[in-house]
Amino acid sequence: MRATVLYGAGDVRVENVPDARLIEPTDALVTVSRACICGSDLWPYQLMQPGEPPRRMGHEAIGVVEAVGSGVRTLKAGDVVVMPFAYSDGTCAFCHEGLHTSCVHGGFFGTVELPGAQADALRIPLADGTLFVLPVGADEALMASLLTLSDVMGTGHHAARAAKVGRGRTAAVIGDGAVGLCAVIAARRLGAERIIMMGHHPDRIALAKEFGATDVVKERGEEAVARVRALAGGLGVQSVLECVGTEEAMRTAIGIARAGGTIGRVGVPHYEAIPGSEPAFYNNLTIAGGPAPVRAYIQELLPDVLEGKIEPGRVFDRVIGLDAVSDGYRAMHERAAIKVMVKP
Ligand SMILES: [Zn+2]
Repeated sequence: MRATVLYGAGDVRVENVPDARLIEPTDALVTVSRACICGSDLWPYQLMQPGEPPRRMGHEAIGVVEAVGSGVRTLKAGDVVVMPFAYSDGTCAFCHEGLHTSCVHGGFFGTVELPGAQADALRIPLADGTLFVLPVGADEALMASLLTLSDVMGTGHHAARAAKVGRGRTAAVIGDGAVGLCAVIAARRLGAERIIMMGHHPDRIALAKEFGATDVVKERGEEAVARVRALAGGLGVQSVLECVGTEEAMRTAIGIARAGGTIGRVGVPHYEAIPGSEPAFYNNLTIAGGPAPVRAYIQELLPDVLEGKIEPGRVFDRVIGLDAVSDGYRAMHERAAIKVMVKP
């Protein structure tokens, strides 16, 4: 079968590899019908150092169960499933608390340890706890939005939840990538009255407005902070959804937060320490967030996707075959595409 392998910075290839197969009795084997490239895939794509082991990429997919191990109880061949970016047993203390990304037996797809989903097929560990069976056939129109339940829509929702978005509150979203755009959807869905999108790509801003952004701030750094604070009555915003992961983004988040406000961060942090500890302290800010337990959120978000109330699948603006995956990485790296779908 074919799979995507990252060898070094800027060096991603599609190769023939041994077929995915069942190993543990709790495994399922899934044929990938749709996968995608994630903004977080761009971090290793840009920063992978010489000497690091190759990595089989991809952690988002919809697929069809081909086979299950003898210990799998809730899945059968032919089921259409969505795969969260992390696998989890569904039974431990953290899974019961809805924090599947901290599962004591869990882990992440697309790592050195576990091959990823930008491939013809993949092995799913702890399949009963990990996979979510979709109540649909091959409904083409819904597939893009359903695919976002693997990661970006659940991650945007997590940013909103962590930032305590609620009815009547003001929210600001930092980052106009797919997660930031989904965070706008999530903030609106949870009742935010004012949603300020911080970004500057025209196509992304247009989509953010359609998703519910009420204001757009294109400035960066100190200017952006001043603009957002002015828009929010001079006091700052109550909920900040940080969807980038750079030190600059976190500094901006702390700068625009209203005293007593909350920052929900879902961008994978690429900084050693959280900046701005003094303003964060004197303003009584809460800094929350982390990897989204998307497995827990599928149940909550799925009805809205099925009813067409939210359309997170609109973040996909390019569809490629698996053989063109390196073009897909390049397009996202160059910001020529918001999010790329891969149809093996
Ligand atoms: Zn668990």
